[in-house]
Amino acid sequence: MNVPFLDLRAAYLELKNEIDAAVERVLDSGWYILGAEVNAFEDDWAEYCEADHCVGVANGLDALTVALRALDIGPGDEVIVPSNTFIATWLAVTAVGAVPVPVEPDPRTYNLDHEMIAEAITPRTRALLPVHLYGQPVDLDPILAIARDRGLFVIEDAAQAHGARYKGRRIGAHGDVVCWSFYPGKNLGAMGDAGAVTTNCGALAERIRIMRNYGSPQKYVHEAVGVNSRLDPIQAAILRVKLPYLDTWTRRRRDIAAIYTQELAKTDLVLPLVPAWAEPVWHLYVIRSLCRDELQNALQSAGIATLTHYPIPPHRQAAYASQPLSFGKQPLAEQLSREVLSLPIGPHVDARSSMMVSAATAQALETPMTGGG
Ligand SMILES: *Cc1c(COP(=O)(O)O)cnc(C)c1O
Repeated sequence: MNVPFLDLRAAYLELKNEIDAAVERVLDSGWYILGAEVNAFEDDWAEYCEADHCVGVANGLDALTVALRALDIGPGDEVIVPSNTFIATWLAVTAVGAVPVPVEPDPRTYNLDHEMIAEAITPRTRALLPVHLYGQPVDLDPILAIARDRGLFVIEDAAQAHGARYKGRRIGAHGDVVCWSFYPGKNLGAMGDAGAVTTNCGALAERIRIMRNYGSPQKYVHEAVGVNSRLDPIQAAILRVKLPYLDTWTRRRRDIAAIYTQELAKTDLVLPLVPAWAEPVWHLYVIRSLCRDELQNALQSAGIATLTHYPIPPHRQAAYASQPLSFGKQPLAEQLSREVLSLPIGPHVDARSSMMVSAATAQALETPMTGGG
């Protein structure tokens, strides 16, 4: 048995003719920065996300930093972030000179616990930055209510949530601004780096549009200290090819998740919980086990690739060790980092493979495990 965690080549081969034609179209056009392809993808993505505006940027980290800059968040400001997330969420806040203030997750959903937000707010807090982790939408309404009460912005990190719905509506414009990554391994992935922001606020979209292009509303006029973070037209053309297939791929992910949930129900693993208001897109299928490392090794021996998202929480990373900041202990994030394991999921995993992964997982749990990693 051999079940890879991800198979990007298979994803390419599935659409090779269309992708090759799209790339050739851009090369043939003689137009290589912004332009018609980028505009067309921005329109397509805004429509898909049920948002009024989309601005393409170079990657997901830039989507977050450009959004923060456009909202004038910088030195002296604090932004509330999840304690358990990919470090990019924190790095964006640090990059603009603001301070990330971690809040622990709800242990059932792994997403920001809105009940813990109030005590983390100070007079310096400017924004709440929830992450739709693993493709599971955050419970947004209480977060939006806190933001309204306190006059804070809501910036959503939706890098793992392409197509997810919260109370029936697509993630894309619930908060003030929503940040996307199209890193190749995401549910909608480019063939290189790519990102975007979506929003219903026209003025904010315009500010971000200027910010991503040297702060320049027109050539050689610079009204803000901007950056160069433009979505590449070749990537935009590839994303336009892939977008019509996204819902089919999401359905495949749902089918796999359903198989895992059914087949692993009798084990003592902690399985993902899906609240009634959530329609997740299963970027990852994350289980929890007290003997995570041993389970991962046993699956590895059976030819099944798994990963841990994430093995070291941001506050424990060396990147933050020298900062004159105290991020506190974050015990839940630390516990999750020891217990989480992501099973293979994606369009490349078929029903048969997911049955085999389930069987191998259940079997590994029944076998006494020793000498883990
Ligand atoms: C992937 C990811 C990012 C960063 O995206 P890049 O395109 O790699 O810069 C940010 N936040 C989360 C939660 C992610 O998963």
